[in-house]
Amino acid sequence: MRTNMNIDWNRATREVVGFLRDLIRCDTTNPPGNEILCANYIADVLKREGIDAAVTESEPTRGNVTARLKGGDAPALMLLGHTDVVAAEPDKWSRNPFGGDLHRGYIWGRGALDMKNMVAAELMVFLLLKRQGVPLNRDVIYAATADEEAGRGNHGIGWLIDHHPDQVNAKYVLTEGGGGDFYVNGKRFYTCQTGQKGIFRFRLIAKGQPGHGSRPHNDNAVIALSRALGVLGSAKWAMHPSKTLRAFLEGIAATQDGETAQQLREVLDAGHSEEALQKLPLAPDMIASLRALLHNTVSPTVLEAGSKINVIPAEATAWIDGRLAPGQTDKSFEAEIRSHIGDEIDLVVDQYSPPLEASTDSPLYQTLVEVMAERDPDAVVLPALMTGGTDAKHICPRWPEVQVYGFMPHRQVPGEEEMNLIHGHDERVSVENLAFATRVLYDVVTRFCGCEGEMA
Ligand SMILES: [Zn+2]
Repeated sequence: MRTNMNIDWNRATREVVGFLRDLIRCDTTNPPGNEILCANYIADVLKREGIDAAVTESEPTRGNVTARLKGGDAPALMLLGHTDVVAAEPDKWSRNPFGGDLHRGYIWGRGALDMKNMVAAELMVFLLLKRQGVPLNRDVIYAATADEEAGRGNHGIGWLIDHHPDQVNAKYVLTEGGGGDFYVNGKRFYTCQTGQKGIFRFRLIAKGQPGHGSRPHNDNAVIALSRALGVLGSAKWAMHPSKTLRAFLEGIAATQDGETAQQLREVLDAGHSEEALQKLPLAPDMIASLRALLHNTVSPTVLEAGSKINVIPAEATAWIDGRLAPGQTDKSFEAEIRSHIGDEIDLVVDQYSPPLEASTDSPLYQTLVEVMAERDPDAVVLPALMTGGTDAKHICPRWPEVQVYGFMPHRQVPGEEEMNLIHGHDERVSVENLAFATRVLYDVVTRFCGCEGEMA
C-alpha cells in the first residue's frame, strides 16, 4: 500500500511505546480522574506536529482532547479512547503501577491494557496520517476522553456530544472492547466488538409490618424480599439470542468439525442450550460469558434492611445489577422480572442504558476483516457481543446512526495471558502487541479513509 511507504516502523514503535509510558505516568485513577493530565500531554504532542487540538473540561480536571484531520465528504471516522483508569493497589504490584516501566519487553502500569495502549496507538496512527500526507476521503477525528471507568461516566464522550458535538460528529468509531484473540480446537479467532448488553440497574423494595423480633408475624419485609431474590436466583430465564451472538457462534461453527459445530448450533436451541454449553471445547470463563449473553441477567449485589437485632424492619431493599440482551428493552425486561416475582414488591429503576448492536454489513467492518486477513491469514474475525459496556453506551443512544466497533488487536502469548490482567495487578502490554495493533490500525484507517489512486 502506497500510504505505507517510507514509514520507519521501528521508529514508530519507539514513539508509541514512549507515548504509552508517558500516559501511564499521568495518574488518572477515576475517581477522581484528573484526566486533564493526559489531555494536556496529548494536546502538546499534537501541537508539536502542527495539528490543532481542543482541550475541554466538563469540570475542572476532567479533561478531554480532540483533534481532526480534514478529508473529503464521506462520513467521518473517530479514533476514540478513554484516558481514565481504575484504582491500583501498589503494594500488590511488582512494579510501580504509575511508573510506566519498560521491562523485559513489556510496558507496565495501570491502563497498559485498558486502555492507554489504544489511546497511544490511535495517537500514533493519527500522527502518521498527518506525516505521510495521506489524502483522506473523510475526516478523521482523534478523541481521548475522560470518565469511562466510574459510575455513569458523565464527564467524557457523552458530555462532548452534548456540549461540543461539532468536535466528535463521526459516523464510525473505533474504540476498545474487542480485538483479542482466542482459540477453538486450534483455530484462531479475533473478536470485533459490535454489540453490548444493556444496563438495567434497579432496586427491589419490600414493605411489611414493623414489630418486635420476639413476636414474629407473616408480613416481614426481609422475608418477602428474600423470597423474591430466591425466585430470581432459581428462575429459568428465557433465551434472547441476538443477531451478534448468532453470527459469533455460527462463525466459529463454520470452521469446526461436525460434532463441535453441532454443539455450537445447539447453544441456540432452548431445549439443549445448557447441555451444549457444557460440552463446548472452550475455557470455562468463555462458557460463563456465553451463558450470560444468551439471557437477560440479574445479580443482586447490595442489601439493606433493619439495624437492630430485635426490631423487624418495615422495609427491605436489594440493589440489583441487571443486564439485557440486544432486542430487549427496559419495558420487556421489567415485564420478564415481574413474570417471575409478581407485582407485590416495588421495583425502582435507577439506571437504564439500552443494549447496542452495530452492523457487520458496513464498509468499516469489512475493512477490519480484510486487513486482518492480510496481517494474520490463519485467523478469522468474528463480531462479538460483550456482557459489559464501553463508551458506545454514551454515543449510540444519542446518535443511533453511529456505528461503534471495539477493536484493539491483541495476540495472546501462550502462558502469559496478558488480557486477564485488565483491572488486575501487574497490568502490562508487550511492546510486540502494541506495535502489532498500531500497524493494523494504521492499515485499517488508511484503507478506510485514504483516497486510493490519488496518492502523489
Ligand atoms: Zn476501558
